[in-house]
Amino acid sequence: MSESNLQSAIISALRAIGCLVVPNVVVTHRGRPTGCGTGSPDLFVAIPPQWSVWLEVKTEEKTSKLSAEQVKLHAEWRRAGVRIETVRSVHEAVAVVTAIRFGRSA
Ligand SMILES: [Mg+2]
Repeated sequence: MSESNLQSAIISALRAIGCLVVPNVVVTHRGRPTGCGTGSPDLFVAIPPQWSVWLEVKTEEKTSKLSAEQVKLHAEWRRAGVRIETVRSVHEAVAVVTAIRFGRSA
């Protein structure tokens, strides 16, 4: 499954269990990244009533690894208290959200 197909499947599954999912779009404007920036995770997921998590979607292939930019930005955001998880399947994405919703650390 391509990453974009996997991402679509994850969005559908998380919306089906009541999450608000906002896909992140990294764009370049006049040669500079705008918005959340290079390396920012793929999906913002609000988990009612009070939680949220950013998800980085990767395919199941072992070659699909975090880029250097992703490693750097994720570390920076985590130091600021942002929750970010990398997921490789619909099952993992639902498990992360369920763990957060029911108070277990993912
Ligand atoms: Mg990704």
